[in-house]
Amino acid sequence: MSYSFSDQTTLSQELESLLRKLHSQVGNAITDDKYILFGAGSTQLLNAAVHALSHLNSSFPASAVASIPYYALYQMQTEFFDSADCSFQGDPARWKNATNTTGDIIEFVTAPNNPNGQLNEAILHGPNVKTIHDRAYYWPHFTGIPSPADEDLTIFTISKLTGHAGSRFGWAFIRNEEVYQRMNTFLQLNTMGVSRDTQLRAMKLLKVIIEDGGREIFEFGYKTMTKRWDRLRKTLSMSNRFSLQKVAPENCTYFQKVREPTPAYAWVKCEREEDKNCIEILNAAKILGRGGSVFHDDDRYARLSLIRSDDDFDMLISRLESLVSKEDGAK
Ligand code: PMP
Repeated sequence: MSYSFSDQTTLSQELESLLRKLHSQVGNAITDDKYILFGAGSTQLLNAAVHALSHLNSSFPASAVASIPYYALYQMQTEFFDSADCSFQGDPARWKNATNTTGDIIEFVTAPNNPNGQLNEAILHGPNVKTIHDRAYYWPHFTGIPSPADEDLTIFTISKLTGHAGSRFGWAFIRNEEVYQRMNTFLQLNTMGVSRDTQLRAMKLLKVIIEDGGREIFEFGYKTMTKRWDRLRKTLSMSNRFSLQKVAPENCTYFQKVREPTPAYAWVKCEREEDKNCIEILNAAKILGRGGSVFHDDDRYARLSLIRSDDDFDMLISRLESLVSKEDGAK
């Protein structure tokens, strides 16, 4: 078996056409007139994108930003791999009026956002702003699909579509040819393309999804997530101590109705003044999650995953129920 250069093998071409078909069935991305690249998960593509967008038109180092709370990998990767070309600068709010900075600004926009499920939009605009749209969770099991993404650089992953995170497969749609070429060079030099075994696995999965226009997987995913959110909301509605994020209902062109969002994560807030470290309180009740500071936010927040197995979810609910029942003045 020879190497797989993204756009040269029959396998890659077939995979590419399956991906374009899937997006047109789901209505979550416009793929016409866009280049496509595969990566070892979206993780590798995020790295390739930062490389491609740094130094694109400017000889000054770029600055990368993401709205708080943000997925920690953006910062960790930018700092670990490419500090000479691009430095991470935190939240974009402080750059809002700084349109005449010397270098380019790269904004990561995550919609729906990890950790809080909000459909984030870009904060910064202008000639020196480049945006990386991370759409890992933009699928009908997690959110309404109000309109198809039609951005210059959009990244998806199979990890949150089917749950095959360990297969390491992601893809990017890129409008600009130079950005595509620079990302492609990065991917070829980094791993010489994506494993053919992985591509084969992704192809099999996509074929099954596409067969019925995604009905089976998305209806199952939406129903499962809705049941989990209903149980979680009911449990925490008894509490004065813990609250959940509010995400606005969205029109879903896939299910053809307005629907409540069912994000992959609960973003829990500890409301009591003395509960300054929410994850410590949850950990003490044998509930695992991540503290707010992991996402560069306040430790009054904690993220709980709602996309684990049914057994894990049942255990999470039962431990939350027991924690809430011990509250003074629980409702
Ligand atoms: N982006 C976001 C917002 C994520 O939450 C994750 C995984 N947790 C990734 C990217 C990375 O996913 P992958 O498995 O495709 O590398």
